[in-house]
Amino acid sequence: MRSLVTGGAGFLGSHLCDRLLARGDEVVCFDNLTTGQRENLAHLESHPRFQFVQADVIQPVLIDGRIDRIFHLASPASPPGYMQRPLETALVNSFGTYHLLRLAQERGARFLMASTSEAYGDPEVHPQPEDYWGHVNPVGERSCYDEGKRFAEALTMIFVRQFGVDARVVRIFNCYGPRSDPNDGRLVPNFVTQALTGKPLTVYGDGQQTRSLCYVSDLVEGLVRAMEAPGSTGRVYNLGNPDERTVLQFAEIIRRVTGSNSPIVYLPRMSPDDPHRRCPDITRARHELNWEPTVQLEDGLRETVAWFRERLGLGAVRN
Ligand code: UDP
Repeated sequence: MRSLVTGGAGFLGSHLCDRLLARGDEVVCFDNLTTGQRENLAHLESHPRFQFVQADVIQPVLIDGRIDRIFHLASPASPPGYMQRPLETALVNSFGTYHLLRLAQERGARFLMASTSEAYGDPEVHPQPEDYWGHVNPVGERSCYDEGKRFAEALTMIFVRQFGVDARVVRIFNCYGPRSDPNDGRLVPNFVTQALTGKPLTVYGDGQQTRSLCYVSDLVEGLVRAMEAPGSTGRVYNLGNPDERTVLQFAEIIRRVTGSNSPIVYLPRMSPDDPHRRCPDITRARHELNWEPTVQLEDGLRETVAWFRERLGLGAVRN
């Protein structure tokens, strides 16, 4: 099988490239390296079945040969990342998705749209099932991302209905693990870096907002199953871990796992549209994909912390 991964130099994309190579695929990775990093693919540079192309899918996509699978992950994904690049974010999810859906149509490839839990906005239904339509501010600071992804979902379904493209949508909830960018401003990279370097853990707001964190290997397994499952054409799947905690609880757990004495400081809420609660209802993925997360939070955090220690040049932990 020959698979195209857009955003393949990103945190999630690079793990997906690993997974597809491990199952024997030839993998072509497209990334414009705005938020993705070549370093995430360093171990694949000389892999005989791997090809990296520095390309921006906002422009028409040029690629020769057969393509069997298209995983469209390209997009800034952290709130600071997309709020600093609102236009690129809106366009990679609109023009970019259009170019890739056309490519899927021309080559007869299966297509997976990596959407987001942000499609639910600041949800009024909890936990969020796929048939909840969301509560999104269409003109707020986050709209480049959440409306961008919602448009990408709509476009995907147009190609399914009008052109018979074999496409599906996954809504990815918060994900963490090795290779997540230490500087992207998200909860886990921030708290782990702060805890390991003895700086205060910065809780935005009162810390009572909730998230549900999914370890990267579980998430990647969900992506592959959503692409391959019979009957997944035209379907939407939540992928995430329903283990919901408050931001303050995450700060406390990360302090414990890192053995840090860093204090917790409270800073103003990041944005008025910051969702208060978020937790996936994964009933559909359980039934239709036979998928659910298997990695417990503390285990996943230990792996993540070990990677951050190395990345920050702090060396391995001695017991
Ligand atoms: N957050 C925080 N301190 C940080 C980074 C994030 O309190 O240093 C909060 C953030 O305001 C949000 C939650 O943690 O309520 C998750 O933020 P993240 O950026 O990881 O992703 P989001 O779920 O907002 O896309």
